Amino acid sequence: MPNDHQPAAPGNALYPFRRPRLPLPLPLRLVVLGATGSIGRQTLDLVRRHPDRLQLAAVTCQGRVEELAADLAAVAAACPDAPPPLVAVTDPAARERAAALPGWRDRLLGAGPVGLVEAVAAAEAPSCVVNGLVGAAGLPPTLAAAARGLRIALANKESLVVGGELVARAVAAGGAEVLPVDSEHAAIAQCLSGRDPSEVARLVLTASGGPFRTTPAADLATVTREQVLAHPTWRMGPKITVDSATLMNKGLEVIEAHFLFGLPYDRIDVVVHPGSIVHSLVEFVDGALLAQLGTPDMRIPLQYAIAGEIHWPLAGGRLDLLGAGPLAFEAPDPGRFPCLRLAREAALAGGTAPVILNAANEIAVAALLAGRLRYVDVPAVIEDTLARLPHGPVGDLDAALAADARARTEAAVLVDARASAGR
Ligand code: NAD
Ligand code: MG
Repeated sequence: MPNDHQPAAPGNALYPFRRPRLPLPLPLRLVVLGATGSIGRQTLDLVRRHPDRLQLAAVTCQGRVEELAADLAAVAAACPDAPPPLVAVTDPAARERAAALPGWRDRLLGAGPVGLVEAVAAAEAPSCVVNGLVGAAGLPPTLAAAARGLRIALANKESLVVGGELVARAVAAGGAEVLPVDSEHAAIAQCLSGRDPSEVARLVLTASGGPFRTTPAADLATVTREQVLAHPTWRMGPKITVDSATLMNKGLEVIEAHFLFGLPYDRIDVVVHPGSIVHSLVEFVDGALLAQLGTPDMRIPLQYAIAGEIHWPLAGGRLDLLGAGPLAFEAPDPGRFPCLRLAREAALAGGTAPVILNAANEIAVAALLAGRLRYVDVPAVIEDTLARLPHGPVGDLDAALAADARARTEAAVLVDARASAGR
């Protein structure tokens, strides 16, 4: 497929390569988007561990207000001098409950998706936005953070899948700094430390292979939701856990790597590495290969990004090299994991094709989690959605959101058809 949309490598990288990091005074004031999620709660844990280095400026959640209140109370106990953060609760009914909590009413931002953008725009003296939202909902606040020229510790890979070009434009205009939280991309960033883009030959993303790495193709039709959610190495939110079982997560990460590091897709490879010890690798033009290793603990890449690529102390698991066993690598199986192929095809097509891919995937994953769609039907719904919808350039956020909405409607129809056929 022709591709008019890929940035020329590697000049258009979002990752700041050798540009000096923003000089930010401590304590860093964080906007935590998705504070009740896996990434969000680990960020709050880091704030508790570093009361002298980190403070909360604003937090958001969808509906779990009571859990957020308990976590914020724990943060306040660890950081008694920090002023309480602004709060956005996107679910309107949950926002009503939040307004009744003591001391919350005056700190509450608007309900709905606008609250996410408001959290970024209204936070007082923010240093860094941690985007721990899941899905395309993360794109508008990423753009708001870019427009405000902030450091963005980006976990929400869908921001780049849906709006990579838009984010690149906003970052170039606003002077923001995008630092990856995703463990693979954080590993690559550590391998690239101090390097020039011209030194890089290719990136190698590692994938755990998920729970079905060795499952025969014939058995995949009958796997249960519980088996899909049993990730062998990482504990994460439900959507990324499903994506890890289909390998769509790795497909999304290839697109994320393309926009972050500015390399063309034929220089971004994927290898399956079941132990999740080597988090990813960079091959340089002389053949030297650098890797970053560690335990599967997201707080390590999260803290590294928030800190502006400085290794702060962190208590916790240390990798036991002698106990780790041999490092195994294998090729992903495109037959059993078609999502990887679908993601690469959409990536090469560019424009709204990755938007459609992502939207169809979000709908299919939600249906699987609701028990309405089989594991093997997830790639089928995505492929059919992509086949039914034309794709074109992503001119602006409205164009991306319109393509996203259309693909969701189409994918939902396809899910319903499969669900009512009892397949
Ligand atoms: P999660 O489901 O645990 O948490 C998501 C958070 O976003 C919650 O606070 C939820 O309330 C909020 N949210 C979800 N949809 C929303 C919406 N439409 N509007 C407003 N708020 C919404 O997800 P997670 O596992 O923390 O993942 C977050 C992001 O980080 C994803 O993009 C994921 O791919 C990426 N990531 C996660 C991990 C991990 O270990 N969890 C690792 C690498 C990358
Ligand atoms: Mg990852």
